[in-house]
Amino acid sequence: MKILVINAGSSSLKYQLIDMVDESVIAKGLCERIGIEGSLLTHKYGADGKFELKTPMKDHKDAMAAVLDALQDADHGVIKSIDEIGAVGHRVLHGGMEFTASCIIDDKCIEAIKKCIPLGPLHNPANLQGIQACQAVMPTTPMVAVFDTAFHQTMPAKAYMYGIPTEYYDKYQIRRYGFHGTSHRFVSGRAAELLGKGKKVIVCHLGNGSSLSAVVDGKCVDTSMGLTPLEGVLMGTRSGDLDPAVVECIANNENMTPSQVLNMLNKKSGFLGVSGVSSDMRDVWAAANEGNEHAKLALDMWAYRISKYIGSYAAAMGGVDAIIFTAGIGENDYVARAMVCEPLKFMGVEIDEAKNKGKRDEGVISSDASKVTVMVIPTNEELAIARDTLELCAK
Ligand code: ADP
Repeated sequence: MKILVINAGSSSLKYQLIDMVDESVIAKGLCERIGIEGSLLTHKYGADGKFELKTPMKDHKDAMAAVLDALQDADHGVIKSIDEIGAVGHRVLHGGMEFTASCIIDDKCIEAIKKCIPLGPLHNPANLQGIQACQAVMPTTPMVAVFDTAFHQTMPAKAYMYGIPTEYYDKYQIRRYGFHGTSHRFVSGRAAELLGKGKKVIVCHLGNGSSLSAVVDGKCVDTSMGLTPLEGVLMGTRSGDLDPAVVECIANNENMTPSQVLNMLNKKSGFLGVSGVSSDMRDVWAAANEGNEHAKLALDMWAYRISKYIGSYAAAMGGVDAIIFTAGIGENDYVARAMVCEPLKFMGVEIDEAKNKGKRDEGVISSDASKVTVMVIPTNEELAIARDTLELCAK
């Protein structure tokens, strides 16, 4: 079966068409600037085929139509008809407490996703637009929703409750939810295949957005992102953990609303805010290597906070068998991995420099003597979504 994976944002729509016989990517692409001037579709296919189309896309329905046209095009297309697409898997950001796993999209599922809009006000409406656009152009194709939050629903109350009056949980479901769940599940699942069941694993998903999770025997027991993806470690543009009083202090001093401060914490902080250079790790390294003190500080803060989270999760689980690095930085940046692991020597974490250097694919980077196995496992959220979609549609 061929499965189309859709990740719809407010003004973008990413897609991948995956052949589930060998789990290969047949084509993938991105629609940008949906609803604004200069809409652009970039479609990649085969070994290095690439096609770009500037065409007005006033909404996600136009974008989906453009995607399906590209997939079926006589020149750069990869299928003859839409009927070749057996099912569609949609990434949905917030499943609240409604969803503990992926589900077939029906009216009930749509209603439940709508119910979660107050928890994911920016993403869930965009995700719904993606689903509805797909349903409009492929009305008979089965569809599945895969939630970023679902994997973390196994956390115990002591990990997901905030230390505020419980009436806010009762009234508004304010609690830790966690995100990147599809990645944490994919990577910890692969770790279980490689290392065996029953292990205590810490997954470090370190990309532009970053989060850590503590996973015991395949079940998430804690994670660093919270009610929203703002909480946790330092990220590309997000601050991560801070004293909430900072919001009031900046709002009062700068005559800003809480929403404006939160926008700054989400979009102008992290690597970008501290280094003053860029949200991208590679740019921050380049600046630090040229002697930029702010960039050096950003890198130090980044690694320090991740090491601290790893230490706290080892304590939360009463030990740790494996630490896994994944996503853009986790998979590619061996110096960053070494920086994170350096303070963990006290708990028996020992990196093998030669194994670590340059490792981008799957493998162990700790020494034989290390008490904790440290690994790189590349994540693949699209494949995880496609696998869930196949499983649910085959039932
Ligand atoms: P997103 O959260 O947007 O999916 P990614 O997982 O693609 O992000 O990670 C993006 C981050 O990974 C950026 O900070 C980028 O600098 C970093 N990165 C990607 N490739 C490399 C590399 N080869 N070396 C160092 N950092 C890299």
